[in-house]
Amino acid sequence: MPLRAKVASSVSRTAAAISRAAGRGDGSVIGGRIAQKIDPDVLRNLAAGRAIALVSGTNGKTTTTRFTAAALGVLGPVATNSFGANMPAGHTSALAKAGSTPFAVLEVDEHYLDRVIDATSPRAVALLNLSRDQLDRAKEVAMMAQLWRTALADHPDIRVVANADDPMVVWAAAPSPHVTWFSAGQRWHDDSWVCPECGSPIERAGGDWRCTGCPLRRPRAQWVVEDDGVVDPNGDWHLVKLQLPGTVNLGNAATALALAAEFGVRALEGVPRLSAVTSVAGRYAQVERDGRHIRLLLAKNPASWLEAFDMADEAPTLLSINARDPDGFDTSWLYDVDFSPLRGRPVLITGDRAYDLAVRLEVNGVPFRHVRTFDEAIGSTPPGRLEVIANYTAFQDIRAELNRVN
Ligand SMILES: [Zn+2]
Repeated sequence: MPLRAKVASSVSRTAAAISRAAGRGDGSVIGGRIAQKIDPDVLRNLAAGRAIALVSGTNGKTTTTRFTAAALGVLGPVATNSFGANMPAGHTSALAKAGSTPFAVLEVDEHYLDRVIDATSPRAVALLNLSRDQLDRAKEVAMMAQLWRTALADHPDIRVVANADDPMVVWAAAPSPHVTWFSAGQRWHDDSWVCPECGSPIERAGGDWRCTGCPLRRPRAQWVVEDDGVVDPNGDWHLVKLQLPGTVNLGNAATALALAAEFGVRALEGVPRLSAVTSVAGRYAQVERDGRHIRLLLAKNPASWLEAFDMADEAPTLLSINARDPDGFDTSWLYDVDFSPLRGRPVLITGDRAYDLAVRLEVNGVPFRHVRTFDEAIGSTPPGRLEVIANYTAFQDIRAELNRVN
């Protein structure tokens, strides 16, 4: 590595350590930013010589990244940005901290995928899904798909692992010469009723879909979620026992296995590694307090709320909504979520924007009770299961109440 990159990398580690010691989070963003100031090419230099996998999409990035890193562990030490710092500063910091590992798995914010591909020359990229997110800041779904498509067209050597069930992802990946398709099922369809190629309606039947105006259609998937397992490209079915709940995580596991296969990890070897993952930065964590079995589910946008309702038990449920900077300031997305699956469950609401949520639940015909604090929520529910579903900073607030549970 050039001297400047070595210095940048060392300073990044030190800055991150100081930030951690000062109790300001894990320090990966500040460390990476300082390193980038010293050497604008630091990420390229840190990536050189490693076999790298990138994971991008609106939902499931953090979990899929964790699963993939676990599966690649079969081959040797793996660098990864497991704290969800998914922009170039976070990648820089993760690689600087890891030293000279032969492999890296990096979660990438979908807006930065083109830049991170240019900087890291990955061997493989996984494209999970695209749906509406953070209305005041995120690109529209079709624009994201275009950005991905252009980025991949510029790098025809990359192995792409892409979701056959998402028309936007299929369109973005289709021109790439090396695509492996996976099918993880997809419940959210409301951002892909119109073909990104020709604008005609997309027709769905069962799990299949096709454009009514051009040849774009669902490709045949080589990796498929089936029952409680995953079918590999040879047609062999593997039972996948996860500690994380929901079909959506089985899908994330299938994606991770497909991605790890691009590095030579066989499904047989990867599967046992996935069951060791218990929670991901507090997500899905289960905590007991005062006889309540609390489970934390993160839901940031309409597609992930749909999945959270699917995962949650029929039990008292606390919903918490904030609209701070990392969440996006616009809460009108609440009207894109159908909260009716919660009818019949005792529902509590809290968070900075609890009143926005209150109006939405009223319109949706879901009875609820407002509580001001997490402790009040616990006091208002009987002993037993308490499901907590929260958006990003609301989730972090509750996680802090539970002593930064992992
Ligand atoms: Zn079309």
